Amino acid sequence: MKRLIFATGNEGKMKEIRAIYSEMGYEVMSMKQAGIDVDIVEDGKTFEENAVIKASTVQNYCASHDELKDAIVMADDSGLEIDYLNKEPGVYSARYMGEDTSYDIKNANLIERLDGVPKEQRTARFVCAMAVVFPDGRSEVCRGTIEGYIGYEPMGENGFGYDPIFYVDEFGCSTAAMSPEQKNRISHRGQALQMMKKYL
Ligand code: IMP
Repeated sequence: MKRLIFATGNEGKMKEIRAIYSEMGYEVMSMKQAGIDVDIVEDGKTFEENAVIKASTVQNYCASHDELKDAIVMADDSGLEIDYLNKEPGVYSARYMGEDTSYDIKNANLIERLDGVPKEQRTARFVCAMAVVFPDGRSEVCRGTIEGYIGYEPMGENGFGYDPIFYVDEFGCSTAAMSPEQKNRISHRGQALQMMKKYL
């Protein structure tokens, strides 16, 4: 069975990728399961650059370890773009107001910064760039997005991060108020994972 390593420490992301890729005959492993411990410096200016940095760093590690030489490596970089705030927090989504600040505080801050802004100017999107690097060094990258708007108050208990303030019009609720299956079907990451299939 071909081995696919996903360069993340996030178990939520691992669940999504396993659900989509195990039926394709891949053994999907996290970095931890593969015993990989490397420092990844995410200093790219775009989601795509950061996704490629993550996947290439881990593929370089695999190339120098015999038991991992045949592995395919995938990684994603994602975040929230708010149009009214010049696409902030963007590639800094995880680091916005500090990595250790709770999302209750980050979400309250973003709603505060949009105080008095009408709905039509509160447009936003989740973006996910997905990169794959093969053992021969070849790489591919693609992007999935989901359009929505920033609500006036947090809603819902599911999901993570900015989900409680990100509303999707056609569902009339935030992505935190959707079931995991519903969110995976329409999400930026779900779409990018589906797009990646054509390269594998
Ligand atoms: P990454 O792990 O470097 O891709 O960081 C992504 C960051 O973007 C997360 O820590 C969240 O703050 C935000 N983010 C990305 N995708 C989502 C999502 O589906 N829901 C909520 N927040 C998200």
